Amino acid sequence: MANSPYRTCPKCKKDNINRDYCAYCGAVINPYLKRKLERKEREVIEEKLAKAKGNRITDLFEKARVHRNPFIRFPVQFLYSIWVIVLAIGSFLAFLVGYIAA
Ligand SMILES: [Zn+2]
Repeated sequence: MANSPYRTCPKCKKDNINRDYCAYCGAVINPYLKRKLERKEREVIEEKLAKAKGNRITDLFEKARVHRNPFIRFPVQFLYSIWVIVLAIGSFLAFLVGYIAA
């Protein structure tokens, strides 16, 4: 039975009554909880990857934008605002193309 409170631990093969974790080895034996935990784990990893990756040009601008020399800082800030607009237009076009294609 799927809703039986008895769950056999996949790790140590011992029966547990109405538990989410194995009383003998501590493994997660509730399939719903297990799936939920796995999903959460994946989300954390994906978030980390997205943060670590970044955009190389954006990273470069981010560094130069806070540069000590104003002769570097001001033109970079100007170029950066153009870059942000280009990115916005690019993503809008990508959205449009995706919308039309779908
Ligand atoms: Zn176990």
